[in-house]
Parts: sequence; C-alpha cells; structure tokens
Amino acid sequence: MSTPITHWVDGAGYDGTSELWSDVTNPATGRVSGRVALASERDARYVIDAAKKASTTWATTSLARRTQILFAFRELLNARKDELAQLITAEHGKVHSDAVGEISRGQEVVEFACGIAHLLKGGQSGNASTGVDVHSRRDPLGVVGIISPFNFPAMVPMWFFPIAIAAGNAVVLKPSEKDPSAALWIAQLWKEAGLPDGVFNVLQGDKVAVDALLQSPDVAAISFVGSTPIAQYVYEEASRHGKRVQALGGAKNHMVVLPDADLELAADAAVSAGYGSAGERCMAISVLVAVEPIADDLVARIAERTRTLRTGDGRRGEAAAEVDMGPLVTKAHRDRVAGFIASGDEAGAKLIIDGREVDADGDRDGFWLGPTLFDHVTPEMEIYREEIFGPVLSVVRVSSYDEAVALINDNGYGNGTAIFTNDGGAARRFENDVQVGMIGVNVPIPVPVAYYSFGGWKRSLFGDTHAHGTEGVHFFTRAKVVTSRWINPAARPEGGLELGFPQNV
Ligand code: NAD
Repeated sequence: MSTPITHWVDGAGYDGTSELWSDVTNPATGRVSGRVALASERDARYVIDAAKKASTTWATTSLARRTQILFAFRELLNARKDELAQLITAEHGKVHSDAVGEISRGQEVVEFACGIAHLLKGGQSGNASTGVDVHSRRDPLGVVGIISPFNFPAMVPMWFFPIAIAAGNAVVLKPSEKDPSAALWIAQLWKEAGLPDGVFNVLQGDKVAVDALLQSPDVAAISFVGSTPIAQYVYEEASRHGKRVQALGGAKNHMVVLPDADLELAADAAVSAGYGSAGERCMAISVLVAVEPIADDLVARIAERTRTLRTGDGRRGEAAAEVDMGPLVTKAHRDRVAGFIASGDEAGAKLIIDGREVDADGDRDGFWLGPTLFDHVTPEMEIYREEIFGPVLSVVRVSSYDEAVALINDNGYGNGTAIFTNDGGAARRFENDVQVGMIGVNVPIPVPVAYYSFGGWKRSLFGDTHAHGTEGVHFFTRAKVVTSRWINPAARPEGGLELGFPQNV
C-alpha cells in the first residue's frame, strides 16, 4: 500500500478534490512508496484563500511573537533533522549525510530570519525639512508562492520561507512531485512551533498547481527554483500577472585549475563537487577546465579518487564507512544521463570511467549510475553544452587563463564557478573577469552563507533579486516612506496657499 501524500492547509492535511495522484518512488529500490495529490485549480484556490485569510492577522502579529516562533522552529528542526533527512533520502536518493547537510544549510536561513526585527528596521531622519520628519518601513506583501525543484526538497524551500514568514507573509509552497514528503514534515513542524494555521501551506501538484499560483490575483510574489526553460516560463507568466518574481534556473559550472594550483586539493574538490549528490546539484562542478601543462597529472589524480567512490543505497550513508553516492532520482532521469554518456563517447571524448558499469550496493531495481569521467571534451559536444544534472565530470583542456575565462563567459549559464590557484593576482583577476553570480577561490561549491544572497547570472536567474540575505528581505517586503509634520502650537507656521512644487528648507 502506498502512503497518500496530501496538501497542507490551515494547519492540517487536505486530500483535495482532483482525484489525480502521482506515484512517488524510492530511487534506491525502484519501488513506489507513496502517491502524491495533484491539485486542481479548485484545490489551489482553496489553499490560496486560506493563506490570504491568515496573512492579514499574521502581518500585524508583533515582531516579538514572530521571532519567538522562528526560534521555536529552529530548535525543533535542529533537534529532529535526522527524521527529515531520512524522508529526503527515501524519496530523493541522496545519502543520509548529504541530506543532513542540506537541512543544515537551510537551517542557516532560519537562523538569519530569527534576526528579522533588526532586518526590518527602517531609516529615520528628523527635521528633514523644517518641522518635517521622514521615516521608512518595510511591509509584508501578503501571500507568496514558492515553487521548488526535486534536488533540494528541504534546503531550497528554506532559502525563502523563513524570511517570507518572518517578514509577515503567508506562504504557499509547491514542492516537486518527485519528493513531496519533506514539505509536509516541515508544515507539521511549523505547527508544533506555534505558527498560526494558514500561514504556511503546501500545495502539491504539477503544472496545474504552478499555473494557479502564477495567475492568482491573491498571490503577490513567486520564488521559483528549477530548470531554465521552466524558470523562464514562470518569470514571464508571473510577471504578466503583475507579480514580483525571482526564478532561479539551471547551471553548467566550470572549475578552472591553473598550473600553479595545489593539485591534491583541486583533485579532491573536483571529485567532491562533481559527484556529491550524484551531480544533482545546481552548484555541482560539471566541467573541469585544466590549464596546461597539468591536465595529464590532474586527470590521473581525479580518476584515482573517483575509482574509490562507492555507489549504493543512500540509507547506508549514515555511517562514515558506508556509500558516497546514491541513485538518480527517477528511472527516466537515470536513462537520460546514461544517454549523455553514450553521446560523449560517440562524439569522441575520452571515456576514462564509465558509470554505466557500476556495481551498486543496493537493490537491483534502483536507479543506479556510477561516477563518470570524460577527458578531452570540446565545447561543441552535447555533453559540454547541455546541463546533464548527473554524476558526469567533463575535462576540457585549454592552454591559457584567457581561454578558460572565455569558455565560462561564452556559456549561457552563469550560476557558479571556481578557480584553483596559489596566485592571488590571478584569483582577483578571475573574480573581475567572469560573468557568474557565485565564485569560489580554492572552494569548489561556493554556496553563499545565509546572510549573503544566492543567485546566478544570465540564464541561471530570471528577475533581479537573489535568494536569502538582505536581497531576500527586500524581495518579501515592500517599502513605504512616510513624510510627516506635527504642528507645535507654540511655533505654528503661518500657512497659506502655495501651489509650487514643495521644496525643503
Ligand atoms: P523542474 O524545472 O523540472 O521543476 C521545478 C518545479 O517546476 C517543480 O516544482 C515542478 O513541479 C515544476 N514544473 C515542472 N514542469 C513544469 C511546467 N511545465 N510548468 C510549470 N511548472 C513546472 O526542475 P527539477 O528537475 O525539479 O530540478 C532540477 C533543475 O533545477 C536543474 O536544472 C537545476 O540546475 C535547477 N536548480 C537550480 C538551482 C539554482 O539555484 N539555480 C537550485 C536547484 C536546482
């Protein structure tokens, strides 16, 4: 019997009315573990209405009370993150330690949002004009929609909802239908933390649910994370309906290794960032740009390390001695990535390690694909051009720093990149030269800490506001500036009509 995974509205589970359900699979066994409700437009309206109702009271709830609830949520999450990690592993497939890692990074945003009282402070100027004071404030938007991808079922929603809620908004979260249970677990946790019913809601579903959020006049803003074509669609459709939108898309992240780099460090980094979470990370390194003459040496070190990785059931990633990499999320995705490996091989790239031959430690029917290493990849090849989103690392050999930077800047994506070097001047030049949102210097996955903002350039982000940090606070609030004059009866101005444009004196 598969478990029903429902919507969450007004503080309780809700089956919805659509009677459409979609199977949820454990990727490590290939077996159906649950079925998730797919919302109809009517279901979506019901959930949005509940959020709208709750948003009015929540917006006027004191900062002190909101902060207390944020702290309570943080404490519960911290104490029980292992439970959530198990849910993530069972539906996504990533190893347990990786699932704990994503929750901890999401928790950082909760901790950031605990300081909301400070973050929402406006400015004040006394006597801006004679007898006139000015102050600014930031008000919540109302109902905000969050649409998230399969690859981080806890962390990506947590980039947004802690700040949205702390700032006084009500949230409707539309998780990926591939791993929808984490969102429900989080909803239950909010309830235990004391959040009023209706402030955090979960709308399960597919395009119907997404379109309902994009088109509803009662949803003020959309935070989306997913693939580039859908990000672009979400950006355009939500903008057309008058909403503010931040839509984060796909990636093709390059890691440049200069000849003076510490090659041991670079090889460790390439393997960790290339194959962690089976490459299903928007900040994964998928292209390693080796600046000659080090390519032979570096590729040998990467291959040696890659051969030590163990692929298997992520639940066995609980102990340090267990598996490093889990299965891919679905059979269709596993087959698609295997297709890219065939394409690279046919195009003439040198296939050094072929993940299709993996001997996984897990159920025969799991969606297994081992780490794959290609050398001599060129920019015309499909494996270079496309976002593979799997455990495939492509090495491109170049002869100069300039050639490496040109590759990065010619790419349509601009999410993350890294440079490995011991030359501070080269690193500084790189930081100036690349058209990419997040840059690592001897750091392969430069995901910014919660008090900075996460986001790419070019086709990796539609809209102009990055996630979390102060940009997140701005996204989920709107500004008012108040100019006021209170009359002192002892020094009453003379008054009189003045139709000219007011000037400050
Ligand atoms: P996806 O685009 O298929 O799905 C993302 C969300 O959009 C899901 O909730 C899904 O239900 C919904 N959706 C899918 N098709 C839709 C359609 N036609 N109309 C409306 N909604 C639709 O992405 P995914 O496969 O779940 O996630 C992987 C992608 O997300 C990769 O491209 C990855 O790079 C990207 N990603 C980007 C970031 C970032 O920060 N830039 C972070 C994580 C993932």
